[in-house]
Amino acid sequence: MGELLEAVVIGSGFGGAISCCRLAQKWKNKVLLLERGKRYPMGSFPRSPHDFASNFWSPPGDQTRRPEHIAKRDLRGMFDMRTFTRMDAVVCAGLGGGSLIYANVFLEPPTQTFERGWPKGLDKAYLQPYYEVARSVLGARPVPSWTSEPRRKIIRTELFQDFAHNQGRDSTLADICVFFGNDFNNPTPIGVQEKNRYGAVQTSCTYCAECDVGCNTHSKNTVDLNYLHVAEQVHQAHIQTECVAEKIVPLNELGEEDTTADGTHGYRVHYRHLDDGPAFVDTRRVVVSAGTLGSNELLLRCRDKFGTLPRLSQRLGRRFSGNGDFLSFVVKGKKRADPNYGPVITQYTDYNLFKNHDPDRAFILEDASYPNFAAWFVEGLQPSLNILGVLKKTWRVLCSIWRHLVQTFVDGKWSGSVGDLANQLLKGDESYRSIVLLCMGLDKGDGVLTLRDGNLELDWPQQTSMPLYDGIIAAGKKFKAFVQSCIFFPLPTWLWPVRNNITVHSLGGCILADSPEQGVVSAAEHDRGQVFGYQGLYVADGSLLPSAVGANPVATISALAEWIAEGITGIAPDESLGA
Ligand SMILES: Cc1cc2nc3c(=O)[nH]c(=O)nc-3n(C[C@H](O)[C@H](O)[C@H](O)COP(=O)(O)OP(=O)(O)OC[C@H]3O[C@@H](n4cnc5c(N)ncnc54)[C@H](O)[C@@H]3O)c2cc1C
Ligand code: SF4
Repeated sequence: MGELLEAVVIGSGFGGAISCCRLAQKWKNKVLLLERGKRYPMGSFPRSPHDFASNFWSPPGDQTRRPEHIAKRDLRGMFDMRTFTRMDAVVCAGLGGGSLIYANVFLEPPTQTFERGWPKGLDKAYLQPYYEVARSVLGARPVPSWTSEPRRKIIRTELFQDFAHNQGRDSTLADICVFFGNDFNNPTPIGVQEKNRYGAVQTSCTYCAECDVGCNTHSKNTVDLNYLHVAEQVHQAHIQTECVAEKIVPLNELGEEDTTADGTHGYRVHYRHLDDGPAFVDTRRVVVSAGTLGSNELLLRCRDKFGTLPRLSQRLGRRFSGNGDFLSFVVKGKKRADPNYGPVITQYTDYNLFKNHDPDRAFILEDASYPNFAAWFVEGLQPSLNILGVLKKTWRVLCSIWRHLVQTFVDGKWSGSVGDLANQLLKGDESYRSIVLLCMGLDKGDGVLTLRDGNLELDWPQQTSMPLYDGIIAAGKKFKAFVQSCIFFPLPTWLWPVRNNITVHSLGGCILADSPEQGVVSAAEHDRGQVFGYQGLYVADGSLLPSAVGANPVATISALAEWIAEGITGIAPDESLGA
């Protein structure tokens, strides 16, 4: 590596991976990416109860507010759980960021989304070419048809389609970034491996439903298998994992740290290697892509704790949105749901987001699968959750034993009992007819991120978004009636008196705007993504979004990152990634 790098990218989620690949395409061997989490090669995602219980992010010295059982341990796992007042958030640590655990959905929001709070001109039509290129690289497509391949049939998808039809609403198969082979029209047989078009080995999806806990067969098109793969293998980007960026300081013309400088002479990025300790690197440019929580936290600390970036806008941390996330469950319906099969989300049903747009109640309803092992776990809990159900099963098993005993006396032999006993024990399990409802929509995006004792805090004025949440709960109750279930409940944290939302779609805080009085990052054509007050300092991740998008946000984050990278490099993006 030369003395002064051309760019340091902080974070390796969608924004970071795209920035790293595109900048390395322009400046070969001169781009460094710092990622706090680990690499996850094929087969390395934890599955045993012990490893799963340790799969959280809480490295030593990190004082961020997290659930107590996590905060007091030294952990370097994937799930970074943040607890705030009235809103908790889940993000991912690892090479690939949120792509490692996301539900694969690539969904462009409707044009109306860009009419509230977005800088003029930065709208759907303008961003369309960038959506297209990201969609292509990430390989977004619907689940393959199952008319000629019964193993591909997903019962849950059909249930949600039936519900939408029953309600007079539209259910659309979602484009998902999952590998079913390189030829979209002729899927590769389930479980067969081949190289994707960027040279990384992937497996044609096995329908195991484990997408949200890391895909051990590398069937998800996570960004380490496309953008980052090319960045590292072709454009010789340097990727350092388990490195936490801690401070950004501008340099003066002598190459010294100078907090009055505006970045014209570059930056020093201080980071901590989790094994080797503190280090720093000097660079002409910095792209901050640490995700909404990470980028806000890092920049707020640089402005308010270390004083190294004092020119940052006073709007930093404002316009936080949880993208209207709301998770709920319908248990023990009378219709088959089979939620333990297939990629985690397959369709979305529109509630006034795309059609009959109503900004106060615009959301989508998505189906969700969850891993088989979770279903076994639920079964294991039955003795404590559902004594009546267990007694019924016990009675069935005793009857079965009795039948076999009688048969033994008649025929003189005992046969077929193990299979029959297993059948009596397992049939009618709770999971098969239970449903996870995932909703997201246009919340008001009026949260504020600040620092408390040097750590991130969120003020979430939940009440302003209540019409949205009420609409979502009403839809959930209708689903309950549709499947003839008696039990509908939102995530337990929503119950009185806690009333906490949980989001997996944190957005905003470093929003794009026309001026520093309105936001943190420039939306001007010639300054795309550059932080107001500084040269060569950029933000490229979910924190840029000035409002909720209602749809799953990765498509928009990726489109914006492509647009910003083009502004920095002057190279029009295409799906070849310059490989
Ligand atoms: C369970 C789940 C399911 C989801 N499903 C979907 C979906 O289907 N579709 C969709 O559109 N969205 C989905 N999302 C949301 C999506 O994952 C995020 O919106 C997206 O990953 C955000 O991209 P990003 O570039 O902003 O940041 P991230 O992907 O969060 O990446 C930020 C990266 O920066 C790293 N980092 C943070 N701080 C530092 C630091 N100081 N130094 C070095 N590295 C740092 C982090 O470890 C992380 O790797 C889901 C999220 C979750 C949790
Ligand atoms: S269902 Fe999800 S986790 Fe399972 S193989 Fe397919 S993409 Fe991977």
